[in-house]
Amino acid sequence: MATFLWNDIVFGPIHSRRVGRSLGINLLPREAKVCTFDCVYCECGGLKRGASGHRLPTLDEVREAIQGRFSELASAGQGIDSISFTGNGEPTLHPDFPAIIDITLAARDRWFPQAVVSVFSNATRLDRPEIVAALMRVDNPILKIDCATDDLAAVMNRPRKGYSVARTVELMKAFKGDFILQTMLVKGPVVDNTTPEALDAWRNVVRELHPREVMLYSVERDTPVAGIERVDADTLAQAAAPLVAEGFSIQINA
Ligand code: SF4
Repeated sequence: MATFLWNDIVFGPIHSRRVGRSLGINLLPREAKVCTFDCVYCECGGLKRGASGHRLPTLDEVREAIQGRFSELASAGQGIDSISFTGNGEPTLHPDFPAIIDITLAARDRWFPQAVVSVFSNATRLDRPEIVAALMRVDNPILKIDCATDDLAAVMNRPRKGYSVARTVELMKAFKGDFILQTMLVKGPVVDNTTPEALDAWRNVVRELHPREVMLYSVERDTPVAGIERVDADTLAQAAAPLVAEGFSIQINA
């Protein structure tokens, strides 16, 4: 299956109708995904044995890449609307993640003060106060909960040992709702988190956390596991409908 990995620490700009001109930042190795999950739908492909042995970019390399690329684009008169930590795995796994957030925010303020900084995280490192504090400093901490039960997460996210949805939800409460919840919906013979029971339980998690926004989406590219089906826009809207009626802000990316 054709999944892909990002080659650069700073990549883009990519243009999107939703966020405008966007730069991505990848803190993980270029050769392999490094993540605490191994989601069946992951665009980076499946976890490979020994991938955790790949070298992460150093703090100096990340600083140079960010400052170099930002100043180059600004000198060329190119504006940036959005800066997103995404890439080949879970960004908070980088040992210098908090310092990198500070470097990025300072570079944003200097070169692109209007740009919004987002971090896409699977929320598995919220047991570390320094990670929570760093995520709270960015404009958009975008935290993942795909399903409400450990049984479903075990099949869909395939987390490292010790992951608990209930514990993650408790840790997310530190944000007091000031975050964006990201949820992937998929169906098919391997996993289906669009059943009435799964969606009821997921909506109760949303009610418990009361995030300022929910991003609901489905797969856009090939998945590393066969049999993962895309959920269409109508199904995403139906899943969100009870929450929309209760006043939640739901962004559907279909
Ligand atoms: S959390 Fe993100 S990077 Fe990690 S396996 Fe899942 S989709 Fe891939």
